[in-house]
Amino acid sequence: MLKYSGKSLYAEGVSVSALAGKLGTPLYVYSAARLLKNYRAFDSGFARLPHLVCFALKANSNLSVARTFARSGAGADIVSGGELYRALLAGFSPKKIVFSGVGKTREEMKSALAKGILCFNVESVEELQSLNETARSMKKRAPVSLRVNPEVQAGTHRHITTGTKENKFGIPKSHILSAYETARRLRNIEIVGLQAHIGSQITSVAPFERLVIVLLEIVDQLAGRGIRLKHLDLGGGLGITYHREVPPTPADLARAFEPRLKGRTLKLLFEPGRFLVGEAGILVTRVLYRKRTGHKTFVVVDAAMNDLARPALYDSYHEIVPARKNGNARETVDVVGPVCESGDYFARARSIPYSERGDYLAIKNAGAYGFAMSSQYNSRPRAAEVMVSGRKWRVVRKRETLEDLIRGEK
Ligand SMILES: *Cc1c(COP(=O)(O)O)cnc(C)c1O
Repeated sequence: MLKYSGKSLYAEGVSVSALAGKLGTPLYVYSAARLLKNYRAFDSGFARLPHLVCFALKANSNLSVARTFARSGAGADIVSGGELYRALLAGFSPKKIVFSGVGKTREEMKSALAKGILCFNVESVEELQSLNETARSMKKRAPVSLRVNPEVQAGTHRHITTGTKENKFGIPKSHILSAYETARRLRNIEIVGLQAHIGSQITSVAPFERLVIVLLEIVDQLAGRGIRLKHLDLGGGLGITYHREVPPTPADLARAFEPRLKGRTLKLLFEPGRFLVGEAGILVTRVLYRKRTGHKTFVVVDAAMNDLARPALYDSYHEIVPARKNGNARETVDVVGPVCESGDYFARARSIPYSERGDYLAIKNAGAYGFAMSSQYNSRPRAAEVMVSGRKWRVVRKRETLEDLIRGEK
């Protein structure tokens, strides 16, 4: 989505610095073409297996981003009533919506049941009972996958590992058969599938392959008890290249899965978030000040951890490039934001071309868990979001105002 033409950085056919000049910074910029390319890579990668790709809205829940996928035929993976609201507005068919999360409330269950979603991914026996009662009160049957904790190491950051014994997610593997037996006895529950999600930013095939093996074992044990499933939901978690990672492609995963799934009629569901949106977005920021302290040079920019929390949360790497090449020599700097926290940084000891006050920088691969995790911390209005498509662009979320900061307060 990003390339230099002459000295200027372009997102598709739109100059990044012109856009930043017009709309102000910090500014999230998304490429419609890249969103579609990512979705198609996933969808066509699994073309030989029956499947449905459900976009995990939590990675980037902007309506226009979500609508881009909905229009292409994708489903949605939601984790709250708020995301259900967004997913329906964005145009996803309820028949393609799966509802994940360890703490669904009755209210959330009710709205999802009323809309007739594809599946609830249930994470505990208590939740199963609560869903059964809710469905009974509405004279409905709730379609359910149980989320198993498959005890598979995803080989990723501990904050984004979800499929080991240490995690709060899913039903332990050793309890999963008895949980299905419980589900079978509940009159307002309809068992349709089995689900797992082992973590995020996974950059090798092996954890996914182990996951498929564990899940198919459970599928077979269930079949032995007369419980037949329609789908197998492998969750999300496929990684992208932030720095030097070389993640597999969806087609690589499909090739690894195919021999194991031969002769089965199970439909595969996927819940990718990061893969679909991560590389399709940048955060554009302006250099406010340069400052030297002792042996260090700081470049203070107008974006902060409230706009993009990933470096502060996960110590994550985001490449930073200038919106206009100025021919300056590179220097090693810390790129930091204005928020009053030492964790408020975008890069440490990073070599970037010398930049001065007023220069625009693009923080790359910011489309996933960027705006979605943003806050108003330090009473900073949230950034604007813009979607480019070819030479056209559209503001898809207005920059917040000072009034937005105090909405609802007394
Ligand atoms: C966060 C999450 C996803 C998406 O994960 P990515 O790493 O962004 O692909 C999918 N499913 C569930 C249940 C999740 O919690």
